Amino acid sequence: MSRDSRYDILFDPVRIGPVVSKNRFFQVPHCNGMGYRDPSALATMRAVKAQGGWGVVCSEQAEIHPSAEICPFIELRVWSEQDVPMLARIADSIHEYDALAALQLCHNGMNAANMYSREIPMGPVDLPVFSVFNEPVQARAMDKQDIRDLRKWHRDAALRAKRAGYDIVYVYAGKLFGGPMFFLSRRFNTRTDEYGGSMENRARLLKELIEDVKDAVGDTMAVACRISVDEMIGEEGLHAAEARDIIAHLGEVPDLWDLTLSSWDNDSQTSRFADEAYQEPFVLGVKQLTTKPVVGVGRFTSPDTMVRMVRQGVLDFIGAARPSIADPFIPEKIREGRLEDIRECIGCNMCVAGDHTSSISRCTQNPAMGEEWRRGWHPEYIRPREDESRILVVGAGPAGLEAAMMLGKRGHEVALAERGTQLGGRLVAERRLPGLSAWGRVADYRAGQLAKMPNVEIFYASALTDEDILGFGFDRVVLATGSTWRRDGVGRALLKPLETGGAEVLTPDDLMAGVRPVARDVLLFDDDHYYMGGVLAELLVKEGYSVTLVTPAAVASAWSFNTMEQHKIQARLMELGVRLKCSAILQKIEAGSATLACAFTGRTEEMAAGALVSVTARLPRLELAHALRARAGEWAAAGLKSVTVIGDALAPGTIAAAVFGGRRYAEELGATPDPGALPFRREVAELLPFDLNAILAH
Ligand code: ADP
Ligand code: SF4
Repeated sequence: MSRDSRYDILFDPVRIGPVVSKNRFFQVPHCNGMGYRDPSALATMRAVKAQGGWGVVCSEQAEIHPSAEICPFIELRVWSEQDVPMLARIADSIHEYDALAALQLCHNGMNAANMYSREIPMGPVDLPVFSVFNEPVQARAMDKQDIRDLRKWHRDAALRAKRAGYDIVYVYAGKLFGGPMFFLSRRFNTRTDEYGGSMENRARLLKELIEDVKDAVGDTMAVACRISVDEMIGEEGLHAAEARDIIAHLGEVPDLWDLTLSSWDNDSQTSRFADEAYQEPFVLGVKQLTTKPVVGVGRFTSPDTMVRMVRQGVLDFIGAARPSIADPFIPEKIREGRLEDIRECIGCNMCVAGDHTSSISRCTQNPAMGEEWRRGWHPEYIRPREDESRILVVGAGPAGLEAAMMLGKRGHEVALAERGTQLGGRLVAERRLPGLSAWGRVADYRAGQLAKMPNVEIFYASALTDEDILGFGFDRVVLATGSTWRRDGVGRALLKPLETGGAEVLTPDDLMAGVRPVARDVLLFDDDHYYMGGVLAELLVKEGYSVTLVTPAAVASAWSFNTMEQHKIQARLMELGVRLKCSAILQKIEAGSATLACAFTGRTEEMAAGALVSVTARLPRLELAHALRARAGEWAAAGLKSVTVIGDALAPGTIAAAVFGGRRYAEELGATPDPGALPFRREVAELLPFDLNAILAH
């Protein structure tokens, strides 16, 4: 297949200082929860991006000194020569597939609480650290020696990056992660010396750092500057006009400008709150302030939008973090004219949640993310089948679709049977909920791939029974039959069914099926804590219901803190008029009234409530599995070798977990795992020589 010539512009080589990128695809820095703990996993993940055609592949932030480390988040470190081999493995892996390797040097300044190193954090002035967890830690104001030290640390780290083989090195002043941004932003920088006050003074440190790094490595390496073009809090913070003044002032100092919004939640907005290219108004015109190339992001998945960004002079490079996670092969697919194969990011931020929880980032769309080295999974390829098994997959939700697609890719003959008339399972309804339409891409991508596979047959309106299945003669059966929301209130706070004497009780499944409460005042009890409670409150209030969201958590949709949405969800609900009753457990509901107990004191109170929407937990749909297991004695005669339950039917979870479950089945079919072995590889740090007596002797 050949590509449309209108995309050729995306494959122009672009010079960045002393190096040249082969095209305009730029995987900007992104965290991944692997960092210094999982270096080979990280190297393989980055190499896959290079293999997928990105011209530049960046690291996540690489902390240059223990005076700024953001434990518990796991990033890279460039603290000493000890780190160089790990960094080199990553650069070498990227070079293996012909991409430029970039290392994002970072000193987090007063963003870092230094809970691991116990060093005193530093910032422009004496202030509490500006960190995720509000640790009881203050940063001290940097004096001139501190500034000299910081400059030296950047130089030293850049030289280490050079020894590790990188082509590009960053100076990071963005997102209130890169410490120099605290100097740029007038709300933090109230210094009265030459590093505070005027724009030129506040930009002095950044200028010196870029110049120092250029001086150290600029002969062979490009030096990029990552900067935020808006804090999105108006004149109080770094705002569009001032950011432009700074970029104009420093225009030719770095070799490349990488533009972000601040803070991270604004930079990586979810599809619930922003569309593709949402950063365009913020970066428009910046390119005209400098002759140096400019990279920006905006959850780009459409090649036409990418071309427009370049043709209209908005960006030189198409930057991507999340789209490159969801599909590391976007550049190759565009190059080969295979646009329909692009696996578009859905903007859910489950990847961010992996980083926030210091686990390995996972992706709803790309179950191989983070598993490239650990489990040997590849986002595009899977090994051919090992036998001729004919496989029946029951249920076309995320788990069943992924299993059928990957089994089909392995070359198995597959039948996918779905009770409903559409593919997508839970997504058929969930994609119609407020703000979730982009999530439908999980189903659409897989439906598109399945349609091209002659060895996979799809049967709609096929609610299968055990009798049907035993009559078909498949070798293996995969049950991806999903789950249903509980009606009895049982979840985390309530482990016994709720007393509901006569009250109208609805579940998310009811609402998604179009059923609505008769009463107009609704109590929505959210003991699930992710998106569903908040989304349904939004749905009902927009339809004119009076809604009170009751939750045992301290805030609405509490877990969505990990997807960087919680504060936005809470603000949206409040603005829509949803009443929030937090730290409260629903104890009982009767016609017209409910009893709530304070989650801390147990004190009870009554509130009026006409109907209950219970969003607490789900039950796996296992009727078919039980029926088949009850007839295990008949399997051999029916030619059936195995029945495996996957996805929500095994244990209800996220869509990402269901897709992962589908992939895992397809990957592991035919393998004979040693039950005593770990299910994945891990890296254990090499032990240093150890002389206990010398350490403990007095
Ligand atoms: P998961 O997230 O694990 O993929 P979903 O709930 O999204 O689960 O999807 C499960 C799918 O299985 C639904 O589309 C449902 O209609 C289908 N399903 C459930 N039971 C049967 C059955 N007996 N026969 C065919 N399809 C079924
Ligand atoms: Fe996109 Fe969601 Fe994957 Fe992150 S987890 S890359 S937001 S699809």
